[in-house]
Amino acid sequence: MTKKCSKCKKIKDLSLFHKDCTKKDGLRTTCNICKSKVDKIYRKNNKDNLRIKKSEYYYKNIDSIKEYHFNWLEKGGQKIRDIYEAKRYKDNPERSRKYIDAWKKYQIENLTDYYILELLVRYNDIKKEDIPNELVKVKRTHLQLLRAIKDERNKE
Ligand SMILES: [Zn+2]
Repeated sequence: MTKKCSKCKKIKDLSLFHKDCTKKDGLRTTCNICKSKVDKIYRKNNKDNLRIKKSEYYYKNIDSIKEYHFNWLEKGGQKIRDIYEAKRYKDNPERSRKYIDAWKKYQIENLTDYYILELLVRYNDIKKEDIPNELVKVKRTHLQLLRAIKDERNKE
């Protein structure tokens, strides 16, 4: 028993057609080879579409994603990040280094709570959880003033 493939128009043995219960003869109209070619193209196109969609979403929402990410880090994600980073660092020191540097730069530039708390515990014998929010705010203002003064000096 044979059947003509609707795509390559070759007459092939029925065993070379996949089953399809929606068809009258219970078999696909295209042969297995044609079907797998179509599938391959579909998968490739779909993969590209997905990747484009993902990057479009990323760039449109980059600020909120970053904010979410860094908020998460500040609210206890830090420990998990440390463990994860340590593993990543072992796997790929150079790439990991870049990530850590970017993260530190962000903390410093934005005077995040995390960064300020780190500063406060570094130079004082005090635990992070004992530092009141007000002190973090005051320290932030202090650092902003210092930066403003430095900027002014650099202009002169
Ligand atoms: Zn075919």
